[in-house]
Amino acid sequence: MIRLFVDGNLEFGEPFEPRPEQARYLTQVMRLGVGAEILAFNGRDGEWRCRIAQMSKRGCVLEPTVRTRPQAFGPDLDLVLALVKRGPLETIVEKATELGARRIRLAITRRTNADHANLNRLRAIAAEAAEQTGRLDAPDIQEPEKLERLLDGWDVGRRLMFCDEAGDDFAAEWGGSSGRASVALKVLADQPAGPWAVLIGPEGGFDAQERERLRTLPYVAPVSLGPRILRADTAAISALTLWQCALGDWR
Ligand code: SAH
Repeated sequence: MIRLFVDGNLEFGEPFEPRPEQARYLTQVMRLGVGAEILAFNGRDGEWRCRIAQMSKRGCVLEPTVRTRPQAFGPDLDLVLALVKRGPLETIVEKATELGARRIRLAITRRTNADHANLNRLRAIAAEAAEQTGRLDAPDIQEPEKLERLLDGWDVGRRLMFCDEAGDDFAAEWGGSSGRASVALKVLADQPAGPWAVLIGPEGGFDAQERERLRTLPYVAPVSLGPRILRADTAAISALTLWQCALGDWR
């Protein structure tokens, strides 16, 4: 059954109009008529079975009839993502949604190329992925912030998995005594669950000052994602998968 991420409240017998493009999708693309049913969720009221109560040129009216699932959320996991090129950025937003990231915080670092992103497009991608993946919410995505600012205002109750490609000296012994990042699963297995974030850098990686500051922060766990350099999209997918296995809802 079609699932739609809608803006309005979902209450029994409280009809609402989906966004025009959603109405067009239901009535013109999927050619549904009055009486047809879909599933709707909004990140607050759970998932509801809704029937098309009215149709007009402008759109349609949906009426919630039965709540199929109470509101629930996945683990409290943020993805902090340095801005990368549009293609990989959109891939990461879609995959992070499927992999359960609650929020996606876009970061501007010293080596990011862009300092803005098309938020409407990213939010639409996240909503579509949430509809497909069966979530009852879609990740919150806000304007990019400088990494320094983001760390200055960090909630220290949230631990940060710092995916560190260990700078230029890549051949370094992974997890060795040189204080290099330890292998992620080992690091995560000993850590408490609770609020976490995963930090992925830009195509150019992190620079020395950023790495220096991150490694001194008490809530930061530097981790290695293995002995090869991964592209940011591969790294994001791998890191989120590791976290879900070690501390999330894949246990
Ligand atoms: N600086 C790298 C590319 C960075 S890849 C280069 O020299 O080409 C983008 C981001 O993916 C990195 O900043 C890091 O967060 C993550 N990443 C990639 N490979 C990684 C690895 N083997 N271990 C940990 N993080 C990795």
